[in-house]
Formats: sequence, C-alpha cells, structure tokens
Amino acid sequence: MKLDATDLRYVTSEEFRVLTAVEMGSKNHEVVPTQLIVQISGIRNGGVNKLVGSLAKRNLVARVQNSHYDGYRLTYGGYDYLAMRALSKRDSLHSVGNQIGVGKESDIYIVADPEGNEMVLKLHRLGRVSFRAIKQKRDYMGKRKSASWMYMSRLAAQKEWAFMKILYEHDFPVPRPIDQARHCILMGFIDAYPLRQIDEVPSPGKLYSQLMDLIVRFARAGLIHGDFNEFNILIRRDTGDPVVIDFPQMVSTSHENAEWYFNRDVGCIKTFFRRRFKYESSIYPRFKSAHGEGSEDFRLDVVVAASGFSRREQKALEEVRTISL
Ligand code: ADP
Ligand code: MG
Repeated sequence: MKLDATDLRYVTSEEFRVLTAVEMGSKNHEVVPTQLIVQISGIRNGGVNKLVGSLAKRNLVARVQNSHYDGYRLTYGGYDYLAMRALSKRDSLHSVGNQIGVGKESDIYIVADPEGNEMVLKLHRLGRVSFRAIKQKRDYMGKRKSASWMYMSRLAAQKEWAFMKILYEHDFPVPRPIDQARHCILMGFIDAYPLRQIDEVPSPGKLYSQLMDLIVRFARAGLIHGDFNEFNILIRRDTGDPVVIDFPQMVSTSHENAEWYFNRDVGCIKTFFRRRFKYESSIYPRFKSAHGEGSEDFRLDVVVAASGFSRREQKALEEVRTISL
C-alpha cells in the first residue's frame, strides 16, 4: 500500500471531521450510514456528501451499498492517515520514505522526524489475512465486531508497544520505542541485516550463545518471545550483535503452553544454525531451569499486564492469532 505523506496537508479540517466521524461510526456499524456521519460530524447534509465523496476519491473511505442502506466504511488508507496525522500533530513524525517490509501482518516504512532523524514506522494489519475466519468463528467484540480489523490491529500495536517499552527500559536489545497511535508504532531504526539474509558470521558459536542467552533472559523476566526466528532477529551492521523485534505474540512464562512456546523458540535457533551455518551444539536452554529458581526478582509479564495491556485484551488477541494461523 502506498503511503503519501504529502496527502496529510491536503485534507481540510472539514474533511478531517468527516473522516473522524466515519471512524467513530464504525465502532458500531460495519457500514456507517451517511445520516450518522452527518450527525457525528455536525456538518450539514449536502456538505457531508461532497466531503465524503472527496475522501472516497483518495481511498480514505469507501462507499458501500448494502441491502438496507448506503454508507461508508473507513479503509486501511483512512486509518493509516488518521494514525499518521496524530503522530505528526505531536511532532513525532514528519515525513514518510520507502517501504522496507511487507509482513503477513504489518507494513514497515522508513520515516523521519522534523530533524530528519530516521525511524521505522510499523503499521499493524491484523485481520488482512483472516478477517473472514475471525468473523465466522467468534464473537469477541460484541457490537465492535464490525470494526474487528481496526480493533485487532490497534490491539496488536498496543501490545507490541507495551512490550517494546518495558524491554527497552530493562536493557533488552530491542529498538527504541518512540511513539504509538492507533495501529502504528514508531521506533528507532536499526542499521542491521535480518539474520535470514546472513550467510556467514565470524563466530556462529558466539552468536548462538548470545541468542540462547537472550531466550533465557526473557524467561527469567517471565517472558517468551513466541516468534524468535531468523526473521525477527536483526544483526547490527557495526557490532554484529543481535537485536530482537516483533512482539505482538509474546507470552508469559505462566501461560498454559509456555513450555511449548519456549521449546519452539529454542528449536528455531537450533534448526537455523544447523542448516545455515552447519553449527550444532548439545548445549541449549531448558524451560524448567530457565524460568525456575534463581530467576530475576522482577516479572516483566506482570509489569506489562499492569501497564495497560489487560489480560482480557491479551486473550482476545491471542485467540484471533490462533485462528489466523
Ligand atoms: P512483521 O510482524 O510483519 O513480521 P517485523 O516487526 O518483524 O514485522 O518487521 C518486518 C521487517 O522489517 C523486519 O524483518 C526488518 O527487516 C524490518 N524492520 C522492522 N523493524 C525494524 C527496525 N526497527 N529497524 C530496521 N528494520 C526493521
Ligand atoms: Mg516479523
């Protein structure tokens, strides 16, 4: 998807009111009736029609005609716009550059702040793949169901933000968290190659133990990354040290399947090192010793839960992710 930052300047304040009204309306309506947009925005009828039409032309909203009534829904583009506008209003974000990643569940862009410092913008796209599956199988959101892709993407971003902040504060090698809005996260740019692109390292044994030590450090703090593989480990270009990214799937060591997640993370590293570097070691961490006696006296999983990402939200996200696999 193309993000055009210059577009930020071409949305008038009235158009913005209408766009916000569509967003608010979609909390309870899959298709927001034009009348409701009129009501929420407080702009008169004829005005709204024209404004919403010009937003539709730029793909910020989409017109939907269903059997009961005509209306509009917010598009990814519209939601991206609202998030980026919020970030730029508080001077966190100034310009948007190249896209550097398209994941299954996110888009990644290089962006800059007003001083020209490079950062990374991650836009979560939960529900892009599995919206239908979510809709069919569960009813988590009650009335919010209609807004599930927006809601789930925002939840994923909030979870990733909460973890990134706490990990960063505790000196884990993760990107610096800068700001968060709706389904977006702003973080420090890491000058690095993803491990999957690396064919040779000076010492596979050293990197292997650095990574296994990290898994243990996570577990001592009550956490399991849950997706600890060559895609989510970046190797710094200058020092060769690993940086871990991508946290929406992190689980607590108290999770009922914690040991299974832990072993899968360990297994990913073992398999990758064997295949890529022909490196094998009989030394690798076990769940029981990693999170048992002698653990850290702080529990990051508990801190995160207390910091605003509630158990209920965790659960909703977890269940959706399980369905979407
Ligand atoms: P996804 O959830 O789609 O897997 P990731 O957070 O893993 O998203 O990021 C996808 C890719 O974007 C990474 O493999 C990496 O190449 C790049 N990337 C993500 N965050 C950063 C960052 N802070 N600095 C540099 N590159 C990054
Ligand atoms: Mg990833």
